[in-house]
Amino acid sequence: MFSSKDGRLLIEEVDFEEIVEKTGTPVYITSRKKLEENIRLFQESFGFARMLYAVKANNNLTIMKIFARNGFGADVFSLGELYLALLAGFDRNFILFNGNSKSDEEIEAGIKAGVKFSVDSLDELYTISEIAQNCGREVKIAFRVNPDISAETHPKIATGLKTSKFGIPAEQILEAYEAAVQAGAVVPVGIHCHIGSQIRDVEPFVHELEKMFEIAAELEKLGVRLEFLDMGGGFGIDYEGDGECRVEKFSQPIKKTLENGLQMLKSKPELWIEPGRSLVANTTILLTRVNAVKKAYKNFVAVDAGFNLLIRPAMYDSYHRVVVANKMEKPAEELYTIAGPICESGDILAKDRKLPKVKRGDYIAVFDAGAYGFAMSSQYNGRPRCAEVLVDGGLFHITREKETVGDLIARQRIPEELF
Ligand SMILES: *Cc1c(COP(=O)(O)O)cnc(C)c1O
Repeated sequence: MFSSKDGRLLIEEVDFEEIVEKTGTPVYITSRKKLEENIRLFQESFGFARMLYAVKANNNLTIMKIFARNGFGADVFSLGELYLALLAGFDRNFILFNGNSKSDEEIEAGIKAGVKFSVDSLDELYTISEIAQNCGREVKIAFRVNPDISAETHPKIATGLKTSKFGIPAEQILEAYEAAVQAGAVVPVGIHCHIGSQIRDVEPFVHELEKMFEIAAELEKLGVRLEFLDMGGGFGIDYEGDGECRVEKFSQPIKKTLENGLQMLKSKPELWIEPGRSLVANTTILLTRVNAVKKAYKNFVAVDAGFNLLIRPAMYDSYHRVVVANKMEKPAEELYTIAGPICESGDILAKDRKLPKVKRGDYIAVFDAGAYGFAMSSQYNGRPRCAEVLVDGGLFHITREKETVGDLIARQRIPEELF
């Protein structure tokens, strides 16, 4: 989906510069073909599970619509994500409203929309119960369980440790379900877990699912009828290599654990998974233009996109592959550090990469930027957000217009005495 021809980067059949002529740089560019290839791969490997797309990874409506049309549910974390998911057409039976801090307004909106909830505390259970009763509705819920599993990933995206802010400790979970059985207008139907993101080993997931089955067996004794076990997302991709997720490596052991676990239960709950990153990361590049090159302590290449548009390197020390989009077939000659335009020393997209000789006006493509890229962007330093584009064969569509400086002031009001 990303290839080179005559030394130039192609996205499917489109030369990157055709897009730049329309949108300028920086710009996020997604390959529809790659997205649909990932969807098929997951559908084949995880045919035994229901898949909910984790909207927070990339909330571009066009991308969300493609997931909805392919039968995915959605994992949402806020009123905004719920709104987007409904707009994109996800089946509300398979929208799960997550989060450790939902406002009353968010809870009421979710209840009225008829989606399911992942409940993060007993406090929240009682709030949901009260609001549901006021609305005259019944809500299906799962509890988010903190399984106390450590998985090797960046500490900021490990969520299953016992010290994490998410979920109810496993040793308190039966109490929570007992409370839910007693509470009005809520029906416990699921168990929810999510142990973290960008996890490359399968063992933590197997361990997680085993723990979920142990809890499920206990819940059956309480008379809870489980419809689903939702083990969350977190499947890692190969950022340093080809950007792929080895989906089979995850799905096969999980399938075995599922089959074994189901034998222990009377009910036959569905397995749900909530991939985000592994579905969208490698579908998208961030294309940026070189404003200046300088030899200082290092060879710095100053480009027009920084952590305002892709915060992962600054926030998680993440590695993203980079290429010079207009010099794809030139030999790599020098080490360069790719720096963004933001007024912070931490604004580095890539460190010490061997690239062809870079000059002002060249284009750098940053790979695997489709997850937690645009979705985590900001207007920091007075920089409007860039456009997003979907390439489809030889065509492309602008799926999000770039912002202008007008967007920086759109919601600002100056008090009268300063007129
Ligand atoms: C972030 C998140 C996901 C998606 O994680 P990925 O690593 O992008 O697959 C799924 N479920 C929950 C509850 C999450 O918080």
